[in-house]
Formats: sequence, C-alpha cells, structure tokens
Amino acid sequence: MSRKIIDSYKRKLAAEDGYVVARDAELRIALCYPNTHAIGMANLGLHTMYELFNNIPGVACERVFLPDADELTEYERTGTPLMSLETQTAVRKFDVVAFSISFETDYLNMARMLQLSDVPVWSKDRTERDPLVIMGGAASFLNPEPIADFTDVIAVGEGEILAFQLIDAIQENDSKEDILLSLAGIGRGFYVPSLYDVIYNDDGTVFDYLPKQPGVPKRVGRALAAVNPKEGTLRRALKRGETELADFLLNQDTFCPSTSVWSPEAEMGDRLLVEISRGCSQGCRFCWAGYNYYPPRVVPAKDILAKAAEWRGKTNKIGLVSTAVCDHPEISTILRELRAMDYRISVSSLRLDQISDELLDALVESRDQQIAVAPETGSDRLRRVINKNLTNDEIIDICGAVFDRGMLTVKLYMMVGLPTETDEDLDEIFTLVTRVKDRMLEAGKKFGRAGKIIPSLNGFVPKPNTPLQWDAICDQRELKRRIKYVCKGLSKIPNVEVRFMSAKIAHEQALFSSGDRNVAKVIDSAARFGGDMQRALRETGIDAAFHTSRDRSYDEFLPWSIVDSGLSFEFLKTEHEKARESLSSLPCPAVEKCTTCGVCPTTWLADAPEALIQIQPARVREALAAAA
Ligand code: SF4
Repeated sequence: MSRKIIDSYKRKLAAEDGYVVARDAELRIALCYPNTHAIGMANLGLHTMYELFNNIPGVACERVFLPDADELTEYERTGTPLMSLETQTAVRKFDVVAFSISFETDYLNMARMLQLSDVPVWSKDRTERDPLVIMGGAASFLNPEPIADFTDVIAVGEGEILAFQLIDAIQENDSKEDILLSLAGIGRGFYVPSLYDVIYNDDGTVFDYLPKQPGVPKRVGRALAAVNPKEGTLRRALKRGETELADFLLNQDTFCPSTSVWSPEAEMGDRLLVEISRGCSQGCRFCWAGYNYYPPRVVPAKDILAKAAEWRGKTNKIGLVSTAVCDHPEISTILRELRAMDYRISVSSLRLDQISDELLDALVESRDQQIAVAPETGSDRLRRVINKNLTNDEIIDICGAVFDRGMLTVKLYMMVGLPTETDEDLDEIFTLVTRVKDRMLEAGKKFGRAGKIIPSLNGFVPKPNTPLQWDAICDQRELKRRIKYVCKGLSKIPNVEVRFMSAKIAHEQALFSSGDRNVAKVIDSAARFGGDMQRALRETGIDAAFHTSRDRSYDEFLPWSIVDSGLSFEFLKTEHEKARESLSSLPCPAVEKCTTCGVCPTTWLADAPEALIQIQPARVREALAAAA
C-alpha cells in the first residue's frame, strides 16, 4: 500500500463534504468512474448512483476513480492495488464493482481500472470470490457489446429504478450464478452477457443471440424511470389551463438528480449541478442522447428550486443540466427564482432554436463570457439530412442576440464527414463562420472590444439506436483530408480559433460505438499497452474497418440489438430514408397517445408489469385518463 496515495486521497476527502463512510455495511459497492476524480465529480450519473446506493439500508457505496498521471506512476511503482477514495480499501475486496460509463471512449479506462485492481478483466476468469462486476450508465443503452465479456451484469436503463432491483437480487440470492439468473429473468433492465451464445454468419456479422437457459429473455428491454412528467404532456396541460392535471403531474414523487458530494477541487465542483430534464424532443438523426432518452421528461420547478435553496448556503453557482434547457415548460419560473436567490446560472449546453431572452439575460448576469452552440454544419441541406431544423440565417440571428449582450466569444460545434457531405457543403462552413465573425465584430463596436469565434470540429461517428446507425463512418484518409481542408480554410478567417478532433480518434470512437463482442480483445490489449489502439489492433488481428467502415443493410442483425431500445425498426428505417432525401421530421411530441417511434406505453411497454418498468405508474395513467 502506498502511503503517498493514501495521504493524497485523504487530502481530497478533507476538501469534500457529503461523502459516506460505512465500513461495516452488509454489502459494499465500489462505484467506479472510468476517468479521474476531477472529471468524474462533474458527472451527475455518478452523483446519483452514489446517493441511491448509500440510501439503501445495509449498503455502503464508495467511489473509485482512474488515477491521475502522478497517482498512476505511484500505483505502478509500489504495486498498490487500486483503492477506493473513502476508506482506501482495495477494489477487489468489495462485494460489487459497479462502473458508471457515460462515454464509450471510457471503455479502455474500465479495462485499465480492472487491471489495476487485480480483478480479472474477463468475466469467465472470475470466481465466486471475486466481486460482481456491473456496468451501467448511458453507454449501456447504446452498445454494451464491446465490454460484454468483461461484465457480469449490464444495467440497461436508468439507474433510479434499477438500483433497487439490483440490490434486492444480490441480497436475496447466495451464489453469483443465482444472482445472475434472477436478474436476467426479470426480462427488462438487466443483461447478463454470459447467458447468451452469440452466433455469427460466415461473413463475420452477427446472426443472432441465443439464450443459454430457460427464463433468459431473447432480447433485454430498456428500463425507463418515468415518474417524472413527460415534457409535452406537462406543457400542454399548462398551456391549456388544465390546472388539475398540471398540479397532479407536478406533485409526483419525482427524481431530481443533483450533486450529492460537494467537491470544490473537481471540475465544476464549486457549483450545484441539477438535472432539470432528460432527453430532447428534436430527433436530430445523429444524436444518441435524444433517441436513447425518449420520451423527454422533466423535473418540476419546485423540486429544482428546493435543491437550490438547500445548497444556497454553500454556493452561489448553479449548473442546469439538460440537453434542452429551454424546452422545460417551467423554465421562466426556474430562471426567475434562481436569479432571485442570487444564483449565477450556467447551462450544460444550449440548443440554438430555443435560446430565449430571459436565459441569455441570466447567463450575462452570471458573467459568462463564452457560449457554446451547435450548428453542426454550415449547410442548410445537410442540416435537413440530420434533421437539425435551423437555417444559417436563423443561426446568425441567434448568435447576434448573444453578441449584443456583450458575450462576444462563441464556440461552434461542427461535424465533418456527415452522410452525403460534399466539398461544397464544407465550403459553406467558411461562409457561416465568416458571417458569425462579422456579426460579432459589428456588436463588438458597442463594447469597444472584439471576441473570438471558436469552431470545434468533430468527425461524425454513427451511433447505435439512431437513424444513422446503418451508415459507415467516413473513410479515415478521406475524413483526415476533409478536416484538414476545413481547418485550413477557417485559419484564414480573422478572429477565428479552430479546434478539431483527429480522424484517428473518430475512428477509434466508431469502433467502440459499433463493434461487437470481439472488440473486447482490442480494449483489453490497448489498456495494457498504455492506450495504443494501433498496436492492439495489430496484435489481436481485429479488422476495425469491418465494424466501422461499411454501410449495413436493413437485414443485418446489429450487435446492439440484444438490447431492445423500444424504438421501432420501421421508425428508424423511415428516418434513415428521409435523411437520404434531405427531408426533415417533426419533433417527438412527448404526449400520451403518441406511438410514432414506439417507445411510449401505448405500444410495446403497455403490458409491462409495473414493478419492472415504471414508465407510467397506474395512478399517473388514471389521472391522465380522467383528464382526457
Ligand atoms: S412514442 Fe411518440 S411521444 Fe413517445 S417517445 Fe416516441 S415520438 Fe415521443
């Protein structure tokens, strides 16, 4: 055991508030975040699971992070096994090792953390004496296959409802085998990879997944936490003055995920983070966060404001976490009350079409000098392909409203390598950025200064369970050429500072996004070779292009189909075909009778037992039926 690491962990704890220590609990969980403490503490999923697990009687949950560079050197020099932060206990001594993984790029870090913990990375090599290894988080909805062989159980859905079922199964069963069978038998929310044989076609594509035992479902349904009102239903009730229904929806026992451990030394650790809504209605065809959190749901204003009041003595900074802040039907109340409490407000991201004057005023008041928005491309046609229903003229108007308030620096997220993209589309990025820059300089005259336009270029990576899931990523050499072409063109525009992600990184991401179980070998090797993916690919003989660089037919069984996202095949296919024709679609209305995409309870979830899926508890359904 390294004294130096123990002392450094104790120093981190001394700066924190709200953590839990319960050494003698019946069940001890090591909650692992596959990145450093500074980054992990800005992740609301981690805060939520920490709070949920620690609130269950008999359970103690401690945090474990990927060591930072100095700590890693010390771990390796001293041969110290990876430890938890709270009690500096070796990870392998916990009953459960639970990974919370938001980004598939962190799969490498997951393998590295298991290696550092001396816990066998492959589930087949673990015995009854080793901890149960669980994976949850947003990446589990997307495509858990690349790490399926590392994991005993994959939580497929939202932790707020799965945590309790998981703990029940662990406490009610004696052996690992029985725990796994009991979780798999639930049929929704828990995927046990070892209970399936994967059958491949001769060409290497997946033919099917076959359950090895009776009672194991053919496909695992996603579990949604939906005691929180649907955004569209609440909006309509408020707009139509249906006060009884609105009151009912706003007074459920809702979840309000928020910071649970105050950690001022971490990124954004000096502010209260609150999730105000989950999911986004717009249906941008590249966006996993939109489709995988359908239907959009909100946290009522009163719950957000109660958290804010509770934390006001500790901080005057609040971060509103949401993919669509201004879609919240009560956003005016939230902003007004937070400003009245003298909070400095920041937002996790801003959707261009929904930026309101009151939100901009609140951001200016918070003295934020920079704002980040996502035009995605400079071409109106390509925006229709991806169903981002905004024009360049509208983008200029919105940026103008930002600049006129004195926020003169704007970050523009753009993608390169989108389906059907041409060089003419790329040229339109130069035109758009030049227009934004001109508008900034015009506004800057009033303030006697100039800001900066920061285009941030990412290679487009097709994501599972989105309409673009069948598309190949742009060939690596061609993607590199396009990124270089755009960077060169942008570098000639004054007041512009371009940032970009390399084509190589985009291709690595695509492998983790779209790979099947064979990709686990690459992840394990790369984690052992210090992250060197090229060496790992060479040594394992895995052909990355097979997973990333071919268009897939509608007949192909996609590796991530083992998880039933609820989105219907027909819906995704129609959206994909519309993309090819540059046709846009309407947003998800998030109302009760919609069956457009297939997720809502009017379709495949209608008969789900409520104990398994809380998408609409009976009392909510009754209230909605009474109001109809
Ligand atoms: S079924 Fe309709 S309301 Fe429900 S998530 Fe899909 S599009 Fe939205």
